Amino acid sequence: MRTMIGLVKEHRGPGAVLKEVPVPVIGPDEVLVRVVASSICGTDMHIYNWDAWAEKSVVTGHVFGHEFAGVVEEVGSRVSHVKIGDHVSAEGHMVCGICKPCRTGRSHVCLNTLSFGITAPGCFAEYAVVRASNVIHNRPDMPFEIACLQDPLGNAVQTVLSGDIVGKSVAIIGAGLIGLMSIAVARACGAAQVIAADINPYRLDMAHRMGADVLIHSGEVKLSQAIREHTNSEGAEVVLEMSGHPDAIREGFEGAANGARVSLLGIPTQDVPLDMGQIIFKGIRVEGITGRRMYETWYQMKGLLDRGILPLDQLVTHTFTLDRYEEAFELMREGRCGKVVFLHGASKPGDLAYNSTDAALQVSLSI
Ligand code: ZN
Repeated sequence: MRTMIGLVKEHRGPGAVLKEVPVPVIGPDEVLVRVVASSICGTDMHIYNWDAWAEKSVVTGHVFGHEFAGVVEEVGSRVSHVKIGDHVSAEGHMVCGICKPCRTGRSHVCLNTLSFGITAPGCFAEYAVVRASNVIHNRPDMPFEIACLQDPLGNAVQTVLSGDIVGKSVAIIGAGLIGLMSIAVARACGAAQVIAADINPYRLDMAHRMGADVLIHSGEVKLSQAIREHTNSEGAEVVLEMSGHPDAIREGFEGAANGARVSLLGIPTQDVPLDMGQIIFKGIRVEGITGRRMYETWYQMKGLLDRGILPLDQLVTHTFTLDRYEEAFELMREGRCGKVVFLHGASKPGDLAYNSTDAALQVSLSI
């Protein structure tokens, strides 16, 4: 039996275990990918720390992680459009294809979704198995540490482009990684003005680097008022809520212009009392964002990446090999980082000592 080193969510509690596990065996419609780079998502922090969401949503006992890029090593007998050696990533939502949403072009809200790295085995390992139908081909010249960011970038692309953006004032509330990516996408797609708000000065500094025109420290000023001050008292025409914080959500609606679009991506961990008059009398369109539109979002993203107009290299602030996962998760918890990427190149069974002396262990690419 072939084995590999993988980061396994073994128990229903905090932490994870790096251990030797079998290399996955692929079915006829699947592909085995040698993972070259993967990145830590906020979701992985929930899984690692183990909170109420994780208790409700995660299947344990396998490798977790869902943002990755790699090279195809093996293809199933029925797979014809993916070849050994292809550079790939994958859409992480595995959908049924037969429920009503799937059959009516809305498979991002499939009733029977399996999630790679959350309810199914994932990518924090030397190899990952993915459905061939979910494979996304990457240009061979795209750096792996950028290619692995496409899952969250797709969230940003879907949020920004779920309505008109050209020539509009856009307020992005919450400058986490998807918020930061959304700043770049909104700029690239023709927003007239991009306003970024967060309570963390480090994140506001990154928002500035990503091209935000206005920075608002929402812990120090009233957010809705600050948005109005920068939009001729009218409010923002597009509000992208990325924080999930109840106060920020309420301020977002208050800071929205009459007839605005408010797209909600941040996930609140508690009930959010809202003044519904802010929505009704201002004629606001509210939209929930989940996943990526399959596969429209991916083609939009490919176009943006091919044009080279998104400064994504600014986002990756730290890289680690997998054996230093505890440091990587601790860094994420502290929040003084952009995207944290695992480079898997040196990971092989019995070779952890080599990894830990690798010169590329922790490279600060931009900060
Ligand atoms: Zn379905």
